[in-house]
Amino acid sequence: MASFQGDQVTVAGAGALGLCIALALSRRGFAVTVLDPAGPGDNASGVAAGMLAPVFEAALDPLSGDHLDLLRAARDAWPDFAPIALDRTGALWRGPDAAGMEARLDALGAQWRRTPEGPFTDEDWRLDPGAAMTVLYAHAARAGVRFETRAAGDAEPGSLVVATGAGGAVLAPELDRLTPIKGHILRVAGGPASGPVLRGEGVYLCPDPAAAVLGATMEAGRDDLRVEADQVAGLLRLGESLWPGISALRARAETGVRAGTPDGLPLVGPSARPGVFLAVGARRNGWLLAPLVARSIAAYLAGEDPGPHAARLDPRRFDDEEESA
Ligand SMILES: Cc1cc2nc3c(=O)[nH]c(=O)nc-3n(C[C@H](O)[C@H](O)[C@H](O)COP(=O)(O)OP(=O)(O)OC[C@H]3O[C@@H](n4cnc5c(N)ncnc54)[C@H](O)[C@@H]3O)c2cc1C
Repeated sequence: MASFQGDQVTVAGAGALGLCIALALSRRGFAVTVLDPAGPGDNASGVAAGMLAPVFEAALDPLSGDHLDLLRAARDAWPDFAPIALDRTGALWRGPDAAGMEARLDALGAQWRRTPEGPFTDEDWRLDPGAAMTVLYAHAARAGVRFETRAAGDAEPGSLVVATGAGGAVLAPELDRLTPIKGHILRVAGGPASGPVLRGEGVYLCPDPAAAVLGATMEAGRDDLRVEADQVAGLLRLGESLWPGISALRARAETGVRAGTPDGLPLVGPSARPGVFLAVGARRNGWLLAPLVARSIAAYLAGEDPGPHAARLDPRRFDDEEESA
């Protein structure tokens, strides 16, 4: 039996990252308690679109362009991680300049094909965040994880894993490096019910029989949850390019706040504060990255190799910049 059997770990935060980490740790024999003052899903993870989209994220997000390998590895960690339905229908470019997008996809080495509607990839998947959280909670509870509805303090028993998204500032010094990025997202009744995710410049539309998901704004430096009419109107305007007539449909707006680092990748690994481990800053790809981050954190706590991507995610990677600033 591993020597860490029964070792106590407190996980601060019950978003996608915290829940996946709790599950991964409990499977390795740690005694895990998850703390969160908010209700289930009352966080960025709960409002997200749930795209697991290495290809179009690498193609469209300048900070993700160099990380297609890591994003693919993160997607590929999902199928064995938990019995969560993964929609593998794929994603279709419906923005301007299809030829330019085809060249970008080729340059990335993405798998795609030309269709009459635009370049299409089946490398990008999707999950339903609400359903995924339900499964993650149930499996974690069954594996013995305890949940408490309160904020973590700086004197929790055992090791502390900080998975507090854009919150939790007092728990570790590195959290100062995070920038909040507010996002508006719309649930639209009567939009596409099935088919690939439609991607455009600064906008996407995820088909769903209950309500299609139109997202999402990236408002750096903002950490409030107020719904703003001009942001909603802007999203609907962009949405017209993907699904003409969408702005006349009934839409419910939601907001969430992601946490971002200067290079767009999360901070995953030991904090400068002894006994504390970080799993924060997943920005616009927290669902995509969650199982990969969880396995890496479990390996750190077990004293094992945290995997081939650990250096790129190491919380200390910005230390030199700070010293020379
Ligand atoms: C509009 C929008 C759309 C998105 N779409 C996608 C997408 O399609 N695909 C994708 O991969 N990602 C997407 N994301 C990003 C993704 O949602 C985030 O990266 C991810 O949810 C981050 O998960 P998390 O667990 O780090 O943080 P969160 O989900 O924010 O959870 C953090 C939790 O920590 C808790 N907390 C805070 N302080 C404390 C404390 N002191 N003690 C204990 N608990 C604390 C909070 O209450 C919260 O519940 C989207 C985000 C937004 C906003």
